[in-house]
Amino acid sequence: MTGYPHLFEPLTIGALTVPNRIMMGSMHTGLEDQDDFTRLAAYFKERARNGCTLMVTGAFSPNAAGRLNAAAAAFDHADEVPKHRQVTDAVHAYGAHILLQIIHSGRYGYHSDIVAPSPLTAPINKHPPREMDIAEIETTIKDFIFTARLAAEAGYDGVEIMGSEGYLLTQFLSPRTNQRNDDWGGAFANRMRLPVEIVRRTREAVGPGFVIMFRLSVLDLVDNGLSESEIIELAQAVETAGADILNSGIGWHEAPIPTIAQAVPRAAFVSYTARVKAAIGIPIIASNRINTPEVAERVLAAGNADMISMARPFLADPAFMAKTADGLAEEINTCIACNQACLDRYFVGKICSCLVNPKACHETEMVVTPTDDRRRVAVIGAGVGGLAAAVTAAERGHEVTLFESEARIGGQFNLAKNVPGKAEFLETLRYFEKQIERLGIGLRLSTKVTADDIEAAQFDSAILATGVRPRLPNIEGIGNPKVIGYADVLNGSTKLGGRVAIVGGGGIAFDVALYLLEVDDPSFTDPDAFRRRWGIGHPLPEIEPSYQITMMQRSEGPMGRRLGKSTGWVHRAIMKQNRVRQISGVRYERIDEQGIYIEVGGVIELVVADTIVICAGQEVRAELAAGLTASGVDLYVIGGANRAAELDAERAISEGMLAASRI
Ligand code: NAP
Ligand code: SF4
Repeated sequence: MTGYPHLFEPLTIGALTVPNRIMMGSMHTGLEDQDDFTRLAAYFKERARNGCTLMVTGAFSPNAAGRLNAAAAAFDHADEVPKHRQVTDAVHAYGAHILLQIIHSGRYGYHSDIVAPSPLTAPINKHPPREMDIAEIETTIKDFIFTARLAAEAGYDGVEIMGSEGYLLTQFLSPRTNQRNDDWGGAFANRMRLPVEIVRRTREAVGPGFVIMFRLSVLDLVDNGLSESEIIELAQAVETAGADILNSGIGWHEAPIPTIAQAVPRAAFVSYTARVKAAIGIPIIASNRINTPEVAERVLAAGNADMISMARPFLADPAFMAKTADGLAEEINTCIACNQACLDRYFVGKICSCLVNPKACHETEMVVTPTDDRRRVAVIGAGVGGLAAAVTAAERGHEVTLFESEARIGGQFNLAKNVPGKAEFLETLRYFEKQIERLGIGLRLSTKVTADDIEAAQFDSAILATGVRPRLPNIEGIGNPKVIGYADVLNGSTKLGGRVAIVGGGGIAFDVALYLLEVDDPSFTDPDAFRRRWGIGHPLPEIEPSYQITMMQRSEGPMGRRLGKSTGWVHRAIMKQNRVRQISGVRYERIDEQGIYIEVGGVIELVVADTIVICAGQEVRAELAAGLTASGVDLYVIGGANRAAELDAERAISEGMLAASRI
């Protein structure tokens, strides 16, 4: 079948046989924390309906202490069974299977009543944990078993017991967090007792027909984490205790090394899964930064794993499996590993979505229906907002013409894709190109339309998606030849001097600095180089920066505060490694041949610079709006053309989709 012989081989997992080797891994979306599971069921149904045959829920805790946060889900009462039935029924209706993830967050719980093997506060949590006593450990084991029984009663095909990423079971395993001197601490046999007991006694309780998946940390990435031999010993003990399959976890959440961000090469960690695979008899799943069928097939063909877990790729495209099976991989809307609309949203208390697919986790709310009133629609601007609008309008049955003044589609993505780690943006452009072809959208590149053109061609509706233009701040000397815009850097057209001053400290300023410092660094694409760069199995390297960079902003406080929570720290770490100077609270005085003069705290300073790059935000680019309004066409203004402040691709895409769904 198709070009993926290994992907479509059946796999037996305990009593269950699945027809292919891709699983939708656990992702906590926030839908699990709702009282009503209608949306959660719709979310899983959409994936099951589109060929995903095995999936794992987000996190459910076995008791109140183990919750991710005070509002997060536990599954510890029989009266919750019916709502879980909604989920399992929705999945089983399509012949697919679903496991419930049981997680105890231990010292990672973001609430005041948290517990841990020892009373050591996590570096990523302000809440101190209480040390568990022996009776509480025993109760916790029973709670895991009770939740597994409830899961069976609710119709789940099994459970995934979360034993990685630094949560409670990992905390027991490692001397980093387990400083007990009773039977649950000290020697490794004692430290691994809790996860092994949970697996053993869960198996006893649920019998042989119910899948037990254990998520094992194949690489801890923290000081005092488990050694390779301890990881293997644990894997073997969990297998003996009754697990049917292992899943790979990578790194604790407090690890100072990226594990799922764009800075991580695709399939960077599969060798760690492979070394466990060689030592066990049950199947093992590889995960992290595997986002295309080609990469998944390659990992399986190399014998590094028995199955692949993808989580975010199923947010980006619920039809990932159906398209793969039908030989339509080119049409997959690929996860670009930005974390912007999934993880970063959950961290601020919102339901997850997906930057490239705003319908994710909003299946019952963002329903795009076919039109019974086919209209002629002009979309002006083929950045990602315009592209999403054009595709949605065409999918609904409208006749769409897409105008773009440049010679190619993509707008700002054409710059962003050049930033180290952001090559994944090319996948989004490939996806849209294929959709334009598939839907027969009339694409007019290198065409600068006017409002008169739109009126003369008698379009019924127009979507204005002309985006933004860079803001040129009013600083004396701004016309100096050493001043350039961020686009001149990111499109590679301008050679820069060695000393660079950046006006602005927002997302694009970080991107420009990253581009200058790391554009030739292979660590973004090559797993070996990644390991050397981040000191995995190597000493942390001393980095010699290729540019001497100073970033400046007028606001007070540290830079990069608005970068995403799950990825901003990676950018900040890279800046630190490259000794980038960051100055906040500046007032720009003037620019001359020497560089840029700033005032900070009443003192004037010259920042000597060969090149000054302006990254001072954007302004609305919507000159056509007035003429289009006057023409009387049914007009929608979206993305940057609507509002430049805090524009990002997530807003542009969702506004484009929403506008097109209203026509
Ligand atoms: P931004 O994040 O809003 O930053 C604009 C920067 O320009 C700020 O540092 C601001 O600092 C400065 N600025 C504004 N007006 C100025 C003026 N008149 N003179 C001098 N400086 C001025 O915008 P952006 O960097 O252009 O990014 C655009 C959007 O894309 C943002 O929403 C951003 O979050 C997103 N983005 C995100 C990432 C990422 O997360 N990695 C990467 C790229 C882009 P002061 O006002 O303090 O001087
Ligand atoms: Fe992937 Fe970004 Fe979508 Fe998250 S928001 S699923 S990282 S594309």
